[in-house]
Amino acid sequence: MAQSEEARRAMRIACPADEGAFLRDYAATARLRALPKAQLHMHGDAILRPRRICDALAAFNASPEPRLARARAELGAEAAAGSVRAQHLLPLLDRPTLAMPGPLWTPDGRVATCTLRQFDDACPIAGATGWNDDGELWHGMGGSRDMALVVSIAGASARSAEAWAEASEDAVREGIRWVEYAVGGPADDAAGAVRIRAEAWTEWRDGLLALRQHALDAVPEVGIALVVCPSTPSGAYAAAFAAHLRAEPDGRLREAVRGVGQVGASDPAERVEAYAIFRAAGLVAVNVHAGEWTVARPALVAQSRASVRSAVEVAGARRIGHGIIAAGDAELCALLRERNVCLEVCLLSNRALDNCPLGLAHHPLPALLAAGVPCCLATDNAYKLAAPNAMGLVREYQCAAELLGLDARSLAALAAASFEHSLAPAHVKARALADIGAWLNREERAAAGLAAVE
Ligand SMILES: [Zn+2]
Repeated sequence: MAQSEEARRAMRIACPADEGAFLRDYAATARLRALPKAQLHMHGDAILRPRRICDALAAFNASPEPRLARARAELGAEAAAGSVRAQHLLPLLDRPTLAMPGPLWTPDGRVATCTLRQFDDACPIAGATGWNDDGELWHGMGGSRDMALVVSIAGASARSAEAWAEASEDAVREGIRWVEYAVGGPADDAAGAVRIRAEAWTEWRDGLLALRQHALDAVPEVGIALVVCPSTPSGAYAAAFAAHLRAEPDGRLREAVRGVGQVGASDPAERVEAYAIFRAAGLVAVNVHAGEWTVARPALVAQSRASVRSAVEVAGARRIGHGIIAAGDAELCALLRERNVCLEVCLLSNRALDNCPLGLAHHPLPALLAAGVPCCLATDNAYKLAAPNAMGLVREYQCAAELLGLDARSLAALAAASFEHSLAPAHVKARALADIGAWLNREERAAAGLAAVE
C-alpha cells in the first residue's frame, strides 16, 4: 500500500529505528493530532528533531579526532578536579566514535522506542547518569545528562533558527497552536550573580528575540512565549533583570517574555524575594519545578510536598512544573484546586526519571484529575525523551488515552486547561476553546455512530 503524503512527510522529519512501527503509531494518532493544544512545559534547549542528532553524529563520526580526544581531556580534567558528574559521564567517551546512550536511542542517534509500549518497557533507564557535583544521585535524571553531553559534542544545537522553526513546523503537525519555552536568564551562569552587564543583557535579548521571530515568521499560526528560568536565585539578580526590562526601548521583549520559573530541585521558598520582584515586573510564575517525585520515593515525599506548597504560597505560581507528588495529599490537592494552580504533567518524563516505577499505567494523573486538580499535559524535554519530533506532545495525549485510559472528554479537558492556564492572548484562548468543543462533539458523535454537528 502506498504511503500517504502525510506519512512520507513524517518520515522525513523523524529518524526512527523501526520505521514501520513509527508509521503505524503515527497514523494511529490522527484524531489526537486534530485536538488543539498548547505546549506549556518545554525546555528551549531540548527541541531537536532526531534527524538533526542522527545527522550530526554521522558527520562527527566521519572524522571524530581530534575533537573526541579534546572532549575526553576536558571532561577528564573536571573528573580529576573532583566532579562526580564528570566521573560518571567520562565512560561515555571511552570509545573510538561518539554514540548516543541507550535504551531510548540507537547508538547512531535514531529513536529506538517508536511506540509507547517500547518506551514504557525501556524505562527507567538503568545506570543513566544522574549525579550532581555534590555526589548525590538526583532522581536518575533519565539519562538526560548523558544524552546532552553526546549531542553537544556532536555539534547539534537547539539554539539555532532552524531548530526553532522546525519545532514550530512540528507543532503544527501535532495540533499545537501555542508554545511556551523555558529559557535561561542573561549571564546567570555564575552562581549568585547580582548584576547583569549591559552587553550580557543585549546578547541574551537579541539572541532570543531573533530565534522567536524566525520561528514566528516561518510558522505564524504557532504563537510563542518565553519563560525565563534563571539558575541564580537571588533577589539582587531579579532586581537587575527587572531594571533592564524596564529600560527596554520598546515592547518587543515584554511581548515575548511573559513568565518566570525555575528548573531543578531547589525549594521555591529559597527564592521568595526574587519571585516578588519578578512578579512586580509583570512576569507570571509558571514552569516552577516542584514536586516531581511520587510516593514511590518515600524518603523524599515530605520535602517534595513542601516544595509544591512553597511554589503556590511563596512563589505565587500559577502553574507548577510536574507537582505530581500532590496526588494522595488531600490538603495539597485542595490548595491547588482552590487557587486554580495548574500542574504541567509530563507523563513520559516522569517515567524516564523513574517517578512512575510501576509503569505509565500507574501514573497519578487520573488521581489528580479525580481530586479536581487543574492539569495539562506537556513534554518537558523532547529530544532527551527520544520524542519522534521536536515537540512530542501528541505522544503524551496518546499515553493518557491508551495507557491511562482517559476518554475523549478528559483529553479535551486537558487540552482546554492547556489554553486556559497559558500565557496566550485572550483571542487565542477563546478560539482554541471553541475548536476543542467542536473536536469533542465530533468524537462523541462518532462514538455514538452519528454525524458530527459543527
Ligand atoms: Zn522541566
